[in-house]
Amino acid sequence: MLKLDNVHLAYGPITAVRSASIEVRDGEVVAIVGGNGAGKSTLLKGIAGLMPVQSGKIAFDGNDITQVPPHLRVSRGLALSPEGRQVFSDQSVYDNLSLGAYFRGLSKAQLDDEIEKQFDLFPRLRERRNQLSVTLSGGEQQMLAIARALMSKPKLLLLDEPSLGLAPKIIQEIFAIIVSLRKAGITILLVEQMANMALAIADRAYVLETGNVTMSGTGQQLLHDPKVRAAYLGVTHNAA
Ligand code: ATP
Repeated sequence: MLKLDNVHLAYGPITAVRSASIEVRDGEVVAIVGGNGAGKSTLLKGIAGLMPVQSGKIAFDGNDITQVPPHLRVSRGLALSPEGRQVFSDQSVYDNLSLGAYFRGLSKAQLDDEIEKQFDLFPRLRERRNQLSVTLSGGEQQMLAIARALMSKPKLLLLDEPSLGLAPKIIQEIFAIIVSLRKAGITILLVEQMANMALAIADRAYVLETGNVTMSGTGQQLLHDPKVRAAYLGVTHNAA
């Protein structure tokens, strides 16, 4: 479904991602794990078209999208739930969700129907449908960011750090939702610093270190790999 071939991303003179070649297959949850500043968010921004690719190629659903602008990537089925949620804080929950589907040209009845589906997945948002998003808790804002991305009916959902700043109980809830999305047939590329949780639910995963993909394997292989455990799970080799 998604194939990156030697993708290079930079902020002016600062290279953030070097020669990244990754693949996401239909129906998979693929995780990208790595420490602070490894280039994980940059990689997702490049895939979403929010920053230009310096060199290399991105193919989605069999087509080269390297030069395709971000809004057309969304209409082709690529949606990003960004780091730090970035919901429209002065808009209601309902309006944020409507904006997620703006390009689909839905009638009011169709839009309401789609929003109801999101409320079935995130019942807490139903209770808060008319509240301004700024009044939501961090966990609720994260749910809204994911639901807004889902309103575009993506084939591939890019999820950037959904656990960021949330309490453990809410993180569990968010991860349970990710698993249920996968069961519903949505392919997911998940960027996470909580490597243990991401690897536990991932079919496959990549480790990104200072802009380089250094390891890849199934989620379970990486979860049990001594180097990954030492670097990202706080477990020493002896204890592993
Ligand atoms: P984190 O989880 O801390 O967000 P990350 O793995 O997502 O880390 P990125 O945010 O992609 O990492 O950052 C990769 C590198 O690019 C870092 O060295 C960072 O300082 C740099 N960087 C990120 N955003 C910018 C920017 N807007 N301008 C210049 N450099 C940037």
